[in-house]
Amino acid sequence: MNTHTHTDTDRCAVITGAGSPRGIGLATAARLAADGFAIAILDIDGDAASAAAEQISAEYSVPTLAATADVTSEESVDQAFAAVEGSHLPPVTALVNNAGITAPTRFADITLDEWRRIFAVNVEGTFLATRRALPGMRERGHGRVVNLSSVSAQRGGGVFGGSHYSAAKGAVLGLTRALAREAAPDGVVVNAVTPGFIGTDITAGKLTDERRAQLIEEIPVGRGGDVADVAGLIAYLCGPEVGYVTGATFDVNGGSHIH
Ligand code: NAD
Repeated sequence: MNTHTHTDTDRCAVITGAGSPRGIGLATAARLAADGFAIAILDIDGDAASAAAEQISAEYSVPTLAATADVTSEESVDQAFAAVEGSHLPPVTALVNNAGITAPTRFADITLDEWRRIFAVNVEGTFLATRRALPGMRERGHGRVVNLSSVSAQRGGGVFGGSHYSAAKGAVLGLTRALAREAAPDGVVVNAVTPGFIGTDITAGKLTDERRAQLIEEIPVGRGGDVADVAGLIAYLCGPEVGYVTGATFDVNGGSHIH
C-alpha cells in the first residue's frame, strides 16, 4: 500500500523555484506532499518544474501541477497562478517563496545590473508571488506564506553571497514582518526561514573545496545543512499548528549564527 496517497486533499502549496533537483524547493515539495498537500511547482526552468512535479505525483500520489514562471515578471506570475486556480488542485493554502539567486561578487565589483537582478528575483519575486496569492487566502480566511531569507542577512554575508544578496535577503525579512502585521487579521501568517550553508546547486560550482571545508569547520553541528533540514521547518510553517506564529524568523544553520 502506498502510505502517501492523498488524492482527496483540500490543501495546496505553491512553491517557487522548486524545479532544481537538489534544491530546497523540491525537498519542500516532497515534504509537503508527504503531509498531504497538493503541489504546484513554479520555476523559470519549465522542464525542471515538469520533471519535479512528475516525481512528486509518482512518489506521493498527490495532485501536482508544473508551471513555467519567472517570478520577476508580473504577467508570468499571474499566468502561473491563473493556471493553478483553473486546475484540479484545491485552493492555495500555502505559498513558499523559495526562488532565489546569489553571486559571490565583492562589493566594489557589483554592477548596477547585477544588483538589480539579485533584488529582482529574491525581493520583487517574493513581492509579486505573495501579492498574487494573498487575496484568495484572505477571502478564505486561511493562509501560510513562508519566505526564504538567509543567514547572510543576519550575519552580513560570510557564507557565499555578496553584499547585494545580504541586502536582498534583509529586505525579505522586512517584508515578512510588515506583511505579517497586515495579513494576520485575515487568518494569514507570514514567516521567514534563514538557512545557513545548505548543500544545493545555488553556488553553481563556484564554491571551492577549500572554502567548503572552512565553512563546515565553523559550524557547531559539524556538517553542512541538508535540504531536508530546511524542508521540515518550512512544512511546519505551512501547517495547521502555526496560526499563532507570525512575523517570525526561523534559523536553520547548525549553530553557525546564534543571536
Ligand atoms: P537552487 O539554485 O538549487 O534553486 C533555485 C531555483 O530557483 C532553481 O530551480 C531556479 O531555476 C529557480 N529560479 C531562479 N530564478 C528564478 C526566477 N526568476 N523565477 C522562477 N524561478 C527561478 O537554490 P537553493 O539553494 O535550493 O535555494 C532556495 C532558496 O533558499 C533561495 O531563495 C536561496 O537564496 C535560499 N537559501 C539557500 C541557501 C543554501 O545554502 N543553499 C542558504 C540560505 C538561503
